[in-house]
Amino acid sequence: MNLMNIDELNALRQFMDDHGWRLRFNNELEREFQQDYTHLYCAHMQIAGIIGLIVFMTCGVLDIVFMPEVAGRTWFIRLVAGAPMLGLMLIFFRRGIEDQHQLFSTIFYCVFVGGMMAIALNSPEPYSYYYYNSVTIVLIILYAVSRIQFKWGVCAAIIMLITINVELICFDLKSNISFLAVVLIGNYVFIASSGCALIGAFLMERSLRQNYLQSRMISITNRQLEELNLSLQFLSTIDGLTQIANRRSFDSTLSREWQRAKRNCESIGFIMLDIDHFKLFNDTYGHQAGDECLSVVGSLLKGYARRPGDLAARYGGEEFALMLIDTSAEQARIVAEQLCKEVSEKMISNKNNVQVHVTASLGVASIVPGQLLQAGPEALILAADQALYHAKRSGRNRVVVDGGQDDEQK
Ligand code: GH3
Ligand code: MG
Ligand code: MG
Repeated sequence: MNLMNIDELNALRQFMDDHGWRLRFNNELEREFQQDYTHLYCAHMQIAGIIGLIVFMTCGVLDIVFMPEVAGRTWFIRLVAGAPMLGLMLIFFRRGIEDQHQLFSTIFYCVFVGGMMAIALNSPEPYSYYYYNSVTIVLIILYAVSRIQFKWGVCAAIIMLITINVELICFDLKSNISFLAVVLIGNYVFIASSGCALIGAFLMERSLRQNYLQSRMISITNRQLEELNLSLQFLSTIDGLTQIANRRSFDSTLSREWQRAKRNCESIGFIMLDIDHFKLFNDTYGHQAGDECLSVVGSLLKGYARRPGDLAARYGGEEFALMLIDTSAEQARIVAEQLCKEVSEKMISNKNNVQVHVTASLGVASIVPGQLLQAGPEALILAADQALYHAKRSGRNRVVVDGGQDDEQK
């Protein structure tokens, strides 16, 4: 299992436990979170921008109907504020600056609020009060639709509050109620509504961050499982001692190659190798030396599976199999003889570090699968096994081809 994954998983678990109410990860994780966030909510910011601009411009129709005497002025304000809003909204659709969206959103909604307030201050009562209250609409679009993050939400709320108060102070209020009452009520309504919206934004961001941590943990766990699965798959096909294919893997590969060879009318060559007097070898030099011997023969055999599709396998005990794709009996015999010679020449260390030799007997067979009706891969194994039996009977350390004569007389 990958150690990096475990470390990352532990770090995430630790972070999840410690995180509490903080809305920030460590630098690396925070950067990735922000990238994901931008990707996820980019469309929200764009939609919120369009809605905001539409709301800001369309309520101008009401001005013409209900307060025509000031409509010229309010439309002037609307166009002065609407132009930068349109510019900022177009920026939301530009590629490559997605990570700046929250900054532009903050500016966009501050201009929006500033515009609404300016229109409110230039409107006669009671319409001015409707415009004061419309600041709440801006907050809904900002926090609920655009899904701005808490940090930016706080910035926006502070700038809006300052803008509202500056405008209240600077404009010449023509109101039936006192200036102080307008300022107090205006501030109270804004602080209460933006406070509630900010709490909502905070809670939403917090749970989003927790979900992010959890989904990262799940993806790391899944990755670990996949890796584990792959290594288990590998282990289930490999013989632990010789590190070549095991019997199970050999059987399934042979039946697959058998079908392929049948379709292509190709032959499959097969060599069965059995170490001679291996029981005696074990008894004389010890089991450990026996294991070493098996491992050496296994690696020699592997060197003969040269072409894609060829397979060297430990068939069981001290028996090995070599499957050679598109190989005739004669070609397989040549390979078997080289192998037989190489095994007999190979030095193997026993427990006292003394170099000893072993020999092997090899049975060779080759079949074109399509030619023998009803015959399956076991026919090939049986043929090589019979040849091996003959090799043993005729003195060992030799190659016998199925249906042929002993090729080497030692
Ligand atoms: P023959 O020449 O007729 O093949 O004789 P043999 O002694 O090689 O054959 P036999 O079947 O009598 O003995 C095979 C031996 O292989 C017996 C068993 O202890 C040994 N063997 C099987 N698997 C292993 C293994 O994984 N490690 C070791 N060290 N020995 C093994
Ligand atoms: Mg045997
Ligand atoms: Mg043997």
